[in-house]
Amino acid sequence: MLIDKFDRKIDYIRVSVTSRCNFRCLYCMPNTPFEWEPKENILSYEEMFEFLRLAIDEGVRKIRITGGEPLLRKDIDKFIKMLNDYNPELDLALTTNGYYLLEMAKGLKKAGLKRVNISLDTLKAEVAKKIAQKDVLDKVLKGIDEAVNAGLGVKLNTVVMQGINDNEILDLLEYAKNKNLTIRFIEFMENERAYPGIKRVDSKEILDKIAQKYKFKELPKDNSASKYFETEDDYQFGIIEPHDESFCKKCNRIRLTAEGFLIPCLFFTESYNIKEAIRNGNIKKAAEILKDVVANKPEKNDWQENEVSTRAFWETGG
Ligand code: SAM
Ligand code: SF4
Repeated sequence: MLIDKFDRKIDYIRVSVTSRCNFRCLYCMPNTPFEWEPKENILSYEEMFEFLRLAIDEGVRKIRITGGEPLLRKDIDKFIKMLNDYNPELDLALTTNGYYLLEMAKGLKKAGLKRVNISLDTLKAEVAKKIAQKDVLDKVLKGIDEAVNAGLGVKLNTVVMQGINDNEILDLLEYAKNKNLTIRFIEFMENERAYPGIKRVDSKEILDKIAQKYKFKELPKDNSASKYFETEDDYQFGIIEPHDESFCKKCNRIRLTAEGFLIPCLFFTESYNIKEAIRNGNIKKAAEILKDVVANKPEKNDWQENEVSTRAFWETGG
């Protein structure tokens, strides 16, 4: 079992399977050129599986596949099947921009995927085009419906930005509510790769906007990154606020990047590479690195208000 210094059980790994993406979201990688890591620097699925098997044997029970855009990586369904075949009890989830779900949702479900989180920042085609720098809305909305039809658990993620989509908070909530899907509003996290001038909308402001139409109460916090709220008519939505104390308190996760870096915390720059150990067949060493990362997991993200992160979200998987 993996327990950190603060007595938190680490049973969740987020795996970024690629840094590549077909969108160029303003808050994530607006100016990233199409130059990517050479293929030999990226862990193969077999190499990732070799490491994840170790983690599963140590008690990891939830694996979220992310990126970049994970649906761009070839044969992602086969990777999901490898994990599901190893342990069908795993909570296997994936975070996606939704663009390829129309084509892929059924195959992913069949492979053993249980849940998807889909990014949806707006319901207006022009605004989606501005945010993703590509005309994406129609495909994303069809992808959401297809994921639901395929029987996947679906949650929506919205990054709220001043003057861009903050006037759609209620519309997005109602879109989700009508489909009986949970939506989580994410405070924009300042980082140096984002488009200059993007400003976050604080959770208080988001909640104030929702309170204009709905009465709601906060639910007890679980170990997810999100705070959840319930309206009087039993609809649940969430807020993700990384500067808030509670963001880290029950953190149960570590991250693995496509290049093999194991990262104890989204906002820390320390990382440890497992690629060499796995490629040399040195499973003992890989297990030691895993234990070290858990042992060195910081208590909290230590991310100051107004501090700009240097971390690339598309590498660490958000
Ligand atoms: N491409 C997939 C997607 O967009 O859902 C998965 C990778 S993306 C990096 C994972 C999550 O990070 C998404 O929910 C995205 O909205 C969020 N994200 C990216 N940059 C962010 C930022 N600067 N602030 C807050 N959330 C961010
Ligand atoms: Fe791509 Fe997701 Fe980043 Fe948008 S948030 S650019 S979809 S990786």
